[in-house]
Amino acid sequence: MIASSDSSTAGAGPERRRGLAASVSGPVAGSPDGLAVAGATNLDARLIALGAPAEILAEVRGLARASGAGMVDLLLQKKVLPEPALLAALGEEYGIPFWEALPTDRIDTGFTALFSIQYLKKQKMVPLDTPQGFVVAVNDPTHFQASDDLCRLLGRPERLVILATQDEIHAAINLAYDLSRSTAKEFFQGMNEESTDSLISEIEETGDLLDETSDAPIIKLVNLLLSGAIKDRASDIHIEPYQGNVKIRYRIDGILYDILSLPRKIHSPLVSRVKIMAKLNIAEKRLPQDGRIEIKVADRSVDIRVSTIPTAFGERVVLRLLDKTSSILMLSDLGMDNRKVGIFNRLIKSPYGIVLVTGPTGSGKTTTLYAALTSINQPAVNIITIEDPIEYQIDGIGQIQVNPKIDLTFAQGLRSIVRQDPDVILVGEIRDRETAEIAIQSSLTGHLVFSTLHTNDAASAVTRLIDMGIEPFLVTSSVIAIIAQRLVRVLCPKCKEAYTPDDESLANLGIDKNQPDRHPLYRKQGCAACMNTGYRGRTAIFEILILDDPLKRLILKTSDANQIQDEAMKRGMTNLLSDGARKVMAGVTTIEEVFRVTRILKRETDLET
Ligand SMILES: [Zn+2]
Repeated sequence: MIASSDSSTAGAGPERRRGLAASVSGPVAGSPDGLAVAGATNLDARLIALGAPAEILAEVRGLARASGAGMVDLLLQKKVLPEPALLAALGEEYGIPFWEALPTDRIDTGFTALFSIQYLKKQKMVPLDTPQGFVVAVNDPTHFQASDDLCRLLGRPERLVILATQDEIHAAINLAYDLSRSTAKEFFQGMNEESTDSLISEIEETGDLLDETSDAPIIKLVNLLLSGAIKDRASDIHIEPYQGNVKIRYRIDGILYDILSLPRKIHSPLVSRVKIMAKLNIAEKRLPQDGRIEIKVADRSVDIRVSTIPTAFGERVVLRLLDKTSSILMLSDLGMDNRKVGIFNRLIKSPYGIVLVTGPTGSGKTTTLYAALTSINQPAVNIITIEDPIEYQIDGIGQIQVNPKIDLTFAQGLRSIVRQDPDVILVGEIRDRETAEIAIQSSLTGHLVFSTLHTNDAASAVTRLIDMGIEPFLVTSSVIAIIAQRLVRVLCPKCKEAYTPDDESLANLGIDKNQPDRHPLYRKQGCAACMNTGYRGRTAIFEILILDDPLKRLILKTSDANQIQDEAMKRGMTNLLSDGARKVMAGVTTIEEVFRVTRILKRETDLET
């Protein structure tokens, strides 16, 4: 429908514009007002033919009249039909095309200066330049006013109105606002050599690192690095000095990317500025230092751990960003299939025992444990943690920060926690025999203990505990389950590409090439939405080893991780690789990604054979 906001279409408007929210007298069935009629309508007939229950449609009509709420919202809330089917039906009814996907490759971000992101998300609409011309994508075909206003303000009365799902509209809005913000990377790419030089000479001239005005060039540079990192969802910023230059790198979804290379002379003022922000000693350059910075960026409170170490070319600085306002995941969001969620749910409701989560640094162990704590967190349960660092603050949970400077270690903290009559204890990590022994003691005296160990797979955690000097019978009488996990990057939904993999890759992944229900697999491409990486976000793969009686008997006989692993697999455990294979089959991630995060496992086996 080509509509314009001038009077000619407005003439057809007053009737049409009321939509479901208004009460309307006697429109013709099949007219856009049809849905507002008390009796059955053409749209109802369409929806019923698609499987929508008639009584729910009647209820929605009543609700819409009473509350003035949007029709599409109500129909979706009541799960009358899946959103695409519903929108397709509405589109036919209203003569508005429904687009399953919004083309965002030539997005014009001009509108981001005129409208707040919240407004557009609330109205669920986005203007886009597409190969078919200028369109306004809306989710609710009855919201004429908002899209008319939008086009008038943009000075583009001629437009095609189309319907799109909420997710597609939200993604397009996010992308437009992301692209319109200048990041550190763009800032530097956009600058020619002259202006880079002028910023650098400005930094040298100003020299005054205590100058807190935000337009001091070095402050501008550090602020750009920080805001760029947050915008790009980076978890770490690395400042690395080399002989001829300083490299700035961001870690995004677990992978380090080179962001920019700065002249060597910028290193000293840059590092000094970061050290001042973190309240570190700027004169001390020969010893490692740790500090923290708290900043607010766009209403988000970000806690930054700063660590410096001396290297041959000067101090190397790593800033680890912890977004305190990012929400804690629910168990169902971790990436476990339904069966594993069920098992995990039962485990974390055990009255006592130890549940261990294992994996290398950055494998999402803390996220899993926080999700567990959140799901069992209620006033009747006393939960206390000792952590390093406290990554999120959870209401209703006592959280203690490890502090070696005052001898508050995991072991020491745990000892004190036990005296506080807890039901559930989280020990950030078991690193030594002392901590392991107190954890076991606590579980044997009726506490549920969560902790982590740095091992590659679940079975190796048993071996690790025994190597620490823990008697096998203490392991089997306290540990109830061990979870191993890794994070895999999720394929960008905008650009992932279906393909047919070769038989060898499938075999390596443990997928039978003759399997009858073989789906197409997906591989990465790269587009604006994923900064050309082909991935956006991460999810976890898991193996859950339950210490049942046969396994306990085996552990009492041997601490050989391979034997324990084999027995667990025989008893139905899916290992990391096969859990990864499932996510590859489901089009969530790629074969390469699963191999990347599990290759340590492969290498170990290769060495042994
Ligand atoms: Zn992409």
